Amino acid sequence: MAMVDQNEILFERAQKTIPGGVNSPVRAFRQVGGTPRFVTKAKGPYFWDANNKRYIDLIMSWGPMIVGHANPEVIEAVQKAAETSFSYGAPTEGEIELAERICAVMPSVEQVRMVSSGTEATMSALRLARGYTGRDLIIKFEGCYHGHADSLLVKAGSGLLTFADSTQNAPSSGGVPQDLVKHTLVLPYNDVAAIEEVFKKQGDQIAAVILEPIAGNMNLIKPSKEFLSAIRNLTSKHGSVLIYDEVMTGFRVALGGAQSLQGITPDLTCLGKVMGGGMPMAAFGGKKEIMSKLAPLGSVYQAGTLSGNPVAVAAGLKSLEIISRDGFYECLGGQTQKLMTGLKQAADKANIPFSVDSEGGMFGFYFTSQIPTSYEAVTKSDVEAFKKFFHLMLDEGVYLAPSAYEAGFTSIAHDNEVVNAIIAAAENSFKKL
Ligand code: PLP
Repeated sequence: MAMVDQNEILFERAQKTIPGGVNSPVRAFRQVGGTPRFVTKAKGPYFWDANNKRYIDLIMSWGPMIVGHANPEVIEAVQKAAETSFSYGAPTEGEIELAERICAVMPSVEQVRMVSSGTEATMSALRLARGYTGRDLIIKFEGCYHGHADSLLVKAGSGLLTFADSTQNAPSSGGVPQDLVKHTLVLPYNDVAAIEEVFKKQGDQIAAVILEPIAGNMNLIKPSKEFLSAIRNLTSKHGSVLIYDEVMTGFRVALGGAQSLQGITPDLTCLGKVMGGGMPMAAFGGKKEIMSKLAPLGSVYQAGTLSGNPVAVAAGLKSLEIISRDGFYECLGGQTQKLMTGLKQAADKANIPFSVDSEGGMFGFYFTSQIPTSYEAVTKSDVEAFKKFFHLMLDEGVYLAPSAYEAGFTSIAHDNEVVNAIIAAAENSFKKL
């Protein structure tokens, strides 16, 4: 008798009351097809679905779970905080501690304001940059995703790259008036000439340049040194605010974020994901001179009922404590590299054009022989091969991001045994491609 698939039953039920059956589009498996896995529990590098099948998790909640699922130290901290109520809407000492810790490991951040999602962080950082400069125009880059605020949904990566027609320089989402994106200039990632040209013509009108300093929403694309220096020099010269969106890379590629690896000091930084240890928590921060324009000190309004939520603060503080321990990033980065080398060797053995890249606990793999450096190159990768590989790996018990355009994430719980199991699964999968 065929087994009843509990995931299918849940998916059918979910679609009746939740649009598409999911609360964030990429979870619906639209690009890869098939039935999303409904998670019942997770521990360390694993989660279990509704059929009680175990998977090695390579998305880790899209980044936050860097210390592994259900980490006992984080659970203890959260339980302790929860016992004294979940929210006060008044300040707590924990918020100060979290702010102090962030400022200590990320020297460009002199002051920080906590919010509840990465979307709020980037949206608020842009408003602040506009309020500070008195200018309207912003520059973003193709394939970078900065959350779903209206003015940022232009040629955005992540789910937008999976679902929308992003070929037009127009809103990539329905419901966004052209008027709201007319102040957003979109330039190609890694294109120095393009940004020089725009600053030459309109430099004195540009409020901010926002970028993913390692782009993880069009698979994984690294910036060239020239690109980063050009952006920093041009924004400084023209009085525009440089915003590093480190919602994904912050505390994931290094304790001090991508900026610590690149030697760039942004004016504002957006954080999220890891900093909340899996709870709804994000932040934006940077130069005191700019941050002091925020309400209640300045005229730029920004607020939140659950901002600095004490339970989320407890999860974030404990996670930051764990990742600050000696050897954390050496271990995380080493395991991730080992995984990438194993995947590449497995693909080579099967004669499949394949390339890999990683930074800290974040990785990308591409069904192309060369690592892509632009949005255009990423969209030309072999999506059909990815889809087949995704399902073969799923059958083997390895859960990859269900889209060819998303980065993958490891955790400190991805030890040798887990990495070897993923490589063995990939060897079997490549043979069947
Ligand atoms: N910025 C970046 C770089 C992201 O990767 C994301 C989410 O994936 C966001 C912003 C938005 O964060 P959130 O989903 O918490 O709103």
